[in-house]
Amino acid sequence: MCGIFALTQHREAAHIAFLGLFALQHRGQESAGLATLNQGHISVHRDIGLVSDIFTAETLARLPGTAALGHVRYSTAGGDARGNIQPLAARVNGINVALAHNGNLVNAPELRDDLERRGAIFQGTADTEIILHLLAQAPGADLGAKMKHVSGLLEGAFTLVLMTPTHLYACVDALGYRPLSLARLNSELDSDAQPSWVVASETCAFELVNGKFERDILPGEMVEIELATGKLTSHTLPDRHGADKAQARRCVFEQIYFARPDSQLWGQSTFLFRETLGAKLAEQAPVDADLVIPIPDSGVPMAMGYARASKIPYAIGLIRNHYVGRTFIEPTQTIRNFRLRLKLSPLRQIIEGKRLVVVDDSIVRGTTSRRIVELLREAGALEVHMRIGSPPVKFPCFYGIDTPKRRELLAQQMNMSEMRETLHVDSLAYLNIDTLHQMAAPQQRSANGQSGFCDSCFSGCYSDKFAQRRLREEHAQPSGVQS
Ligand code: SF4
Repeated sequence: MCGIFALTQHREAAHIAFLGLFALQHRGQESAGLATLNQGHISVHRDIGLVSDIFTAETLARLPGTAALGHVRYSTAGGDARGNIQPLAARVNGINVALAHNGNLVNAPELRDDLERRGAIFQGTADTEIILHLLAQAPGADLGAKMKHVSGLLEGAFTLVLMTPTHLYACVDALGYRPLSLARLNSELDSDAQPSWVVASETCAFELVNGKFERDILPGEMVEIELATGKLTSHTLPDRHGADKAQARRCVFEQIYFARPDSQLWGQSTFLFRETLGAKLAEQAPVDADLVIPIPDSGVPMAMGYARASKIPYAIGLIRNHYVGRTFIEPTQTIRNFRLRLKLSPLRQIIEGKRLVVVDDSIVRGTTSRRIVELLREAGALEVHMRIGSPPVKFPCFYGIDTPKRRELLAQQMNMSEMRETLHVDSLAYLNIDTLHQMAAPQQRSANGQSGFCDSCFSGCYSDKFAQRRLREEHAQPSGVQS
C-alpha cells in the first residue's frame, strides 16, 4: 500500500508536495520520496522514515522546480530495501523521468523473468522498476504512447504517475483497484497563468493544500497533462480483460480500513460509508448491551453507526496513543505484540461492570483482537460482544494490501464458534458480504449492475489467472499455522 501525490505548474512545487505526502502518510510509513522538475532536470530526495523526518527546510530547498511527484511507501512487494524507495528516477530513451506506483502487479515475476532473460539489470526488487524497463523497450513516438503500451502488459493493481520534462501522465488499471483523483489548486495559492493540477491517491491530500476536487481518474484511463500549457487530455488504456469481463474491482478494503475517513473515495464519503456499515451491522447482529465502544481509530465510524441504529449509548472505552504506528502495517509479529500494549489503554471508569459491544473494521490474524478483549476483561468488562463491520477475511490480497498468507488468517483456520472461543468473546458477528456490495453508490456500479468492488479477500474469487495460481501455490506450501 502506498500513496502518490503530484502537481504541476507551481512555484513552490516541493513544499506543496511535501504537504500532500504528509496528508497521505497513513498509506505508507516505511519510506518516502519526492522528485521535482526544473528546466528539464529532475532532482530527487528519498529516504527511510516518516515524511516529517525526511523532508526538512534544507532538503526541500534542494528540490527546485515547478512540478513535483511524491510517494509514501509501505512495502507489499519487493521488501523495504533502499533501492525500492520511490519515486524512481531514470533516463528512458535519453529523457529524464520520475515514476511512482501504488498497487501490486500480479504478473511481476513473469515480466521480470522475461526482462532479465533479455538482458535487463535490476537495482531493486519492487514492481516499479519493471515498469521503467518496459518503458525503455516500448514502441511509441513519445512517453505517453509508451505508457499506454506498457499498461497493456501489466496485470493486477496499479496507479502510476510518470513525470517527464514536458508532461505528467497518471494511469489507473482497467479494473480500478486503487484510487487516484484529480484536483486544481486554489488561485490564492498559485497566481501563475496556467492551471495547477494535482493528482493524489486520496482526496484528504487536496484538503490540506486547498485543492479543488475535479474528478476521479477512471479505471482504464490515462490522464496526460502538458506542463507548459496545463492542457489535460484523457486517453483510454488498452483493455486486457475484454469488453465482456470489464468491470471495476475497486478495493473495498480501502473504504473499510485503509483510506482516511475524511477522504471521498470513488464518489463516496469514507466516513459515512463506514458509519452506515456499522448501522447495518446493528440491524443484522443486535445484542442486549450497555455500551458500544470502538477499537480506535478505524472502528470509530462503524461503532457510531452501530450505536445510532441500536440506540445503545456510544462511549470511548480504549484510549489510543497516536505516537505509535498502526499495528496492521508493522512488518513483524514481535513488534506488533509489543506495540499493542503501547498503543491502547482501557478506560476502567467507563468499562467496569458493563456489557460491551466492541466494534472493529476487520479481523485478520486475530492476535490483536484477542489481546484487546483481554485488556477489556482485565479492566472489568462484564461481557464482550464483538461486531466486525466487514465479512470474514479468509483469503490473501495479491493487489497491494498486505494481508498475511491464507493459512495465517483467523477466519480461514476456524469456524465461528472456534473464533468466538479463541477471541474469548461472548458473541461474535460479521457484516454480510451482500450488504457490503449493496452499499456501493450508484456511480460505483459497473455497467452490468455489480457493485464495482473487489471482494477477493472475503470470497476467494480472483479476477485473473496469476492471482489464482499464486493462491494455489500458497495452498500447496507446508502449513505453519499461527493465530
Ligand atoms: S483482495 Fe481485498 S484487500 Fe485486496 S484489492 Fe480486493 S478487496 Fe482490496
